[in-house]
Amino acid sequence: MRHLTTSPTHTATADDPQTEVRPRIEGDTLDLTAAVDQAMRKTLPTEYTPELAAQIAADTEARLNQPARPLTAAQRGDEWMNRWGCPGFCVEAHGDPMASEAHSTAPVETPLRVSELDHSGYSSNGEDLPWMTAQVVVVNEKAQAYGRATQIWLGYGVHLAEMTPAQGRAALDELRAFTVRLAAVVDLAEQVAADDFPGDPEVARLDTEATEKRIAGVSKRRR
Ligand SMILES: [Zn+2]
Repeated sequence: MRHLTTSPTHTATADDPQTEVRPRIEGDTLDLTAAVDQAMRKTLPTEYTPELAAQIAADTEARLNQPARPLTAAQRGDEWMNRWGCPGFCVEAHGDPMASEAHSTAPVETPLRVSELDHSGYSSNGEDLPWMTAQVVVVNEKAQAYGRATQIWLGYGVHLAEMTPAQGRAALDELRAFTVRLAAVVDLAEQVAADDFPGDPEVARLDTEATEKRIAGVSKRRR
């Protein structure tokens, strides 16, 4: 992305050929800074500054780079909702081979991945799952016969709890109480960690040597 510069004495105007930056496609990527620059000169010539154009381009790019949100059933429309029996919030892509029969909100999740916390190495073998996720799921297939059931799916790493709303409420209360106790643990750990130190690599090397000698001595005596 190109940065726009202008000398302090030079004021850019809408049809100033000196500082105009023409948009171009690089590969399949539009040069957004140049595109916004040109659009602003045309439509907002009095407000135009190269810095403002660059700022708008940066904001737009940040928004475009956000992960795509799946369509909700409400966004897909009535026909879709009637066909699959979807509540408006459902983001399940019914009809896809991997899609569920149940209806679900998009999960909320922690940015923290479980593989960043789990020292067993087990989590890093699987997908890069969030530490915790939660979503509302409605099961209403053949509802006249089997009824409709609303669940909360609470994910923690590779584990998934399918709970009733009442169980979800109880889990939330437990979690709230736990965060208070976790905060106390973290506070204490931070105080204790003030006395931590890294150790001396030279002393560590001598210790390793001594251990290896001892092991070698034991093996010799056994022969
Ligand atoms: Zn659905």
